[in-house]
Amino acid sequence: MHIYKLIEKKRDGFCLAEDEINFVIEQYTAGNIPDYQISALLMAIYFNGLSDEETGWLTRAMLYSGEVIDLSDLPGIKVDKHSTGGVGDKVSIILAPIVAAAGVLVPMISGRGLGHTGGTLDKLQSIPGFKVDYDVKTFKEKISRVGACLIGQTDTLVPADKKLYALRDVTATVPSIPLIVASIMSKKMAEGINGLVLDVKTGNGAFIADRKKSEQLAEYLLMTGKQFDKPTIAFMTRMDEPLGHHVGNWLEIDECIRALQTGEPSDLMDVTHHLSGAMIYIGKKASSLEDGIERSKQMISSGKAMQKFREIVREQNGDLSFIDKPQSYPTARYKHTVLAPEEGYIRAIDALTVGQTSVILGAGRQKSEDAIDPKAGIIVHVKTGETVQKEQPLFTILTNRENIVKEAERNLLDAVSFTELEQVAEPLIIKQMDNGII
Ligand code: URA
Repeated sequence: MHIYKLIEKKRDGFCLAEDEINFVIEQYTAGNIPDYQISALLMAIYFNGLSDEETGWLTRAMLYSGEVIDLSDLPGIKVDKHSTGGVGDKVSIILAPIVAAAGVLVPMISGRGLGHTGGTLDKLQSIPGFKVDYDVKTFKEKISRVGACLIGQTDTLVPADKKLYALRDVTATVPSIPLIVASIMSKKMAEGINGLVLDVKTGNGAFIADRKKSEQLAEYLLMTGKQFDKPTIAFMTRMDEPLGHHVGNWLEIDECIRALQTGEPSDLMDVTHHLSGAMIYIGKKASSLEDGIERSKQMISSGKAMQKFREIVREQNGDLSFIDKPQSYPTARYKHTVLAPEEGYIRAIDALTVGQTSVILGAGRQKSEDAIDPKAGIIVHVKTGETVQKEQPLFTILTNRENIVKEAERNLLDAVSFTELEQVAEPLIIKQMDNGII
């Protein structure tokens, strides 16, 4: 087999065979095919796509490029959730303790923030001492002890994705649906899960803004879940305004603590309960999705989810004093409130601009090697559809970078639009889909 011939085949619109895809992934991971040839193949895939079968084969080849975690010796059903990411998306941190408290095991391998979207690991690591770099053996022990463990990608899991993603990033081939699907699903399947719940976000703060394309991504992800015989439920959710009120690493942990204690704010908890309810249902601790949502709400109202969150933080070496007294967390040096320039209904709050502004305040990364400031971020005081009076607080900016405050204020004022007409926000859950094997 020769890579040149395979590039040519894909370039000309033909399908690759399973052994050809295996060859590409094995040889590329082993360092035997140069980046320039894989770049050409990726671009051919970008333009010509992959068939359903090719996407499944690619996912499988990537999955077996490294270690696959075996959780079969842990009793019970293991379910994870994947979100395509958004602004203020802290759902994993609330959902993992809810689902674990309901008796379903949650092996969660998460990512870091890049660009305008935050990452679960950065948020968790704003809790002093919180560790996310456990090896597979310790990961399993922790899941077995407390029911959930949240770690980062290890070097041994799906090495093909690490190399391919870095190359896609610099060759403008990230936005290819089959490549995204293979990247996401190979990593999820490597966790040793029995089922998966997906939050496919759509809107200008999402990884894919266009609704039709997001739906196509959800369908492909579900189909791949089916090829691996994993019950999979997907929700398409709206990401055109920040989720909840806090954007920024510690600020989001602070909001998660409040959410676990009170079940508020409603937008954040609406998305959380749908996703955790689906996980509880797939984990066979509920008789239906609706029952799962009900069980999820009970985990909050009974205090069991909050108790489980404390257990997870303690198990992963986090300092519980800040969980018990979030107000004792040190605050950023500069705090500035942005006031409404006029009265009216909030027509929209542009999630992308809010996310990008949080990055310049220090809460995110422009490049993967950038450091992040756990204290920086934005409190969003209003939601689409609410009325505001002139000079009512719209945002609070928190940063250690004094020179950026004015620019952040200008950006945030640009992010909000007003209308005199009453405005009703669209439901956050746009569509629910599954792959028929539940
Ligand atoms: N997230 C991933 O893990 N992979 C992609 O290709 C895109 C988003």
